[in-house]
Amino acid sequence: MKLIFEKSVKGRGCSILPTCDVDMAPLSDALSRKSELKLPEMSETDISRHYTELCKRVHGVNCGFYPLGSCTMKYNPRIDEEMAALKGFTAVHPLAPEYSVKGCKEVLDTARKYLCEISGMDGMTFQPAAGAHGEFTGVLLIKQYHDSRNDKKRTKIIVPDSAHGTNPATAAMCGYQVVNIPSAENGCVDIAALKAALGDDTAGLMLTNPNTVGIFDENILEITRLVHEAGGLCYYDGANLNAIMGVVRPGDMGFDCIHMNLHKTFATPHGGGGPGAGAVGCKDFLKDFLPSSAIMGGSGIQVRSFMGNFLVVVRALTYIMTLGKEGIPEAAKNAVLNANYLMRAIQGTFEPAFDRICMHEFVLDLSKFKEETGVSALDVAKSLIDRGIHPPTMYFPLIVHEALMLEPTETESRDTLDDAAEAFRSLYELAHEDPEYMRTAPHNAQIGRPDEVQAARSPILRWREA
Ligand SMILES: *Cc1c(COP(=O)(O)O)cnc(C)c1O
Repeated sequence: MKLIFEKSVKGRGCSILPTCDVDMAPLSDALSRKSELKLPEMSETDISRHYTELCKRVHGVNCGFYPLGSCTMKYNPRIDEEMAALKGFTAVHPLAPEYSVKGCKEVLDTARKYLCEISGMDGMTFQPAAGAHGEFTGVLLIKQYHDSRNDKKRTKIIVPDSAHGTNPATAAMCGYQVVNIPSAENGCVDIAALKAALGDDTAGLMLTNPNTVGIFDENILEITRLVHEAGGLCYYDGANLNAIMGVVRPGDMGFDCIHMNLHKTFATPHGGGGPGAGAVGCKDFLKDFLPSSAIMGGSGIQVRSFMGNFLVVVRALTYIMTLGKEGIPEAAKNAVLNANYLMRAIQGTFEPAFDRICMHEFVLDLSKFKEETGVSALDVAKSLIDRGIHPPTMYFPLIVHEALMLEPTETESRDTLDDAAEAFRSLYELAHEDPEYMRTAPHNAQIGRPDEVQAARSPILRWREA
């Protein structure tokens, strides 16, 4: 497919501007362009076709099943978009005087109230722009707390190996030494290993729960108690709250602070990479350390300009208010039900890494399957593309080899799950009959197997004139 710049034809265009009704005021030499601005020149039909064609080359939740584990690719109701598109929300200036943006402030206050209730926290900021940014902000709360008590010996953050990869990265970014602890046989935190890691140098623990193998840690209360007894604080990675919202609250489990990805659980489309919001909540005693902003007050650090990505909060509030107190836990329970249904429907062919009830997602372990057939988790993922299914998360978490991580979410119907299970079962058979076909999949996609290292390390993101 040609780039829009390559389709450009000199003199072609479609802008209809009103005739200028004021005197021309030429720019000074210093401000005017030295060379011609190169923009594509196209008719409206061609622009429309170009973008529609691009649209057909991607896969989104609106095209089909998208069980990308840990990412919560669920359907985002249209009403959330409609609310976020209201003029009163989109046409405000960040420096507008407070009396003129009272409605926006009410949105932030109400969203904060509901999300505090859902998470069991007392204070919250919407400044962080995404999950990892929220973690960074949350761990800075922990750091400020210890500093405020002049407790300088706490240099370590404990991170279980089933945590999301951003957790150890965050702890390191905040200047902490990361202490990795292994999981027990059952996929939960190894309590003995935790006890051995705790000490008076422990600043805190970062826990992803449910963890990256989709398991809710059954010792959660003991874990937070042990960390507190050692003088550390507990950070809850609630990026993905889909399995527990309205059912249990991290605050009640003993956690001191949390981030929630509003773009995952609370209705902002995020397949293209943004904008998002990592709402960070905390208990009362940490509230003074929250980021500050001109209209919301606070005495802490500032991690982003103004109020963060405000429209993401508008969507989250709309989502919460349309589902209500009954709908929120129902969505969570359906997310768990769908994951367990799909896991059991696939079982017998591809086997789960942990054969137990999962939460919102589960991990398949394809190592035995690969030994038998020579077909890898990557080959299965690529083959799913030919069947109109977005690949699951691959080779993550690292503690499972040949891992495929599936999160169907609550917005998928039983029919979709049945179709997906059928696709998995038939690929399992195909791998035994014609492994070569799977090793060269996908056969019907725009892009087959790019050089992934090259694509990640030296992507070409800009058109340059030849
Ligand atoms: C997605 C995710 C993150 C990171 O969130 P981003 O918005 O991508 O920065 C952190 N932890 C968990 C468990 C996640 O699923």
